[in-house]
Amino acid sequence: MKIAFYSAQSYDKTYFDQANTSQEIRYLEARLEPHTVGLAAGCTAVCLFVNDQANAEAIQEFSKLGIKLIALRCAGFNNVDIEAAKACGIPVVKVPAYSPHAIAEHAVALILTLDRKTHKAYNRVRDGNFSLERLIGFDLFGKTVGVVGTGKIGAVFCEIMLGFGCKVLAYDIAANAALQAKGVQYVPLTDLLAQSDIVSLHCPLTPETRHLVNPDSVKAMKPGAMLINTSRGGLVDSSAVIDALKSGQLGYLGIDVYEQEEKLFARDLSDTIIQDDLILQLMTFPNVLITAHQAYLTEEALREIARITLLNIAAFEKGAVLTNQVVL
Ligand code: NAD
Repeated sequence: MKIAFYSAQSYDKTYFDQANTSQEIRYLEARLEPHTVGLAAGCTAVCLFVNDQANAEAIQEFSKLGIKLIALRCAGFNNVDIEAAKACGIPVVKVPAYSPHAIAEHAVALILTLDRKTHKAYNRVRDGNFSLERLIGFDLFGKTVGVVGTGKIGAVFCEIMLGFGCKVLAYDIAANAALQAKGVQYVPLTDLLAQSDIVSLHCPLTPETRHLVNPDSVKAMKPGAMLINTSRGGLVDSSAVIDALKSGQLGYLGIDVYEQEEKLFARDLSDTIIQDDLILQLMTFPNVLITAHQAYLTEEALREIARITLLNIAAFEKGAVLTNQVVL
């Protein structure tokens, strides 16, 4: 089957080429945008990532081009209009889990870096500056960590934080009994925000969770708390967190995702004038750490993403049941 593979990076090509035995993959550097839909002409399937915008118009154009399958190589599907795909008779498949450890461990990396300021220490020491001034952190042991969304990634994250000796509070629309048995306490969101020293977001982006972190919820947080978002940028109202960082209400912010990330992330913009004023402002704060949607980027995850995506495509080709189909 011919597959138009949008937003291809060198590492995608490496891992998909290793796993691929029968598909003809057309690697496209371009993201899926209205003017790049036509690059899929002659293909039967498209393979998309998190910042490829498959809105109703794009899907209708794909349908006219003869695209029969949308294969997401990610877990989240908020960037695809599932109803529009259904109306066009195009199934959407995803990779429901590839390595929840990769994302949970990256959330921990953001916490430890913000807390112990290892990024600052690294630069200081390289510059011959061995001063310890302004590098004071805090013990994670005994702190309260609030986890919003205890699915696959959130559950791994809870277990890691329990291992650090933290008290773990959780909020989810469905409690996980196995986590409760290990000591995780489910509480209403307002209680979680009020009591947590660190809040980490692991729920999907849906109409209900959009701007879950907003001016009101930031005010409800413990003063000086740390907010970590490795889930989706749209969960956080960036202007609200900027105001809270300026007032000191929010003590630290670690993000791997950003609401307007599709114009920025996974690109080298070091030679250009960045036009996004919100990210420019966030980049200036000493207590903000931004990574460019790399939480999933481990060898294990990339291998699994390629393997499952190609299995999903092969199942469609054979007319088999699509176990990883997105159904609303
Ligand atoms: P999952 O489906 O296993 O878990 C999501 C959890 O969120 C579920 O327990 C669900 O009940 C809960 N939830 C849903 N709606 C909620 C709401 N309104 N309030 C509170 N909880 C709610 O998903 P997962 O595999 O753990 O992934 C979580 C998210 O992580 C994905 O949706 C995706 O956005 C993000 N993600 C990010 C990266 C990255 O590289 N940064 C990689 C993979 C996934």
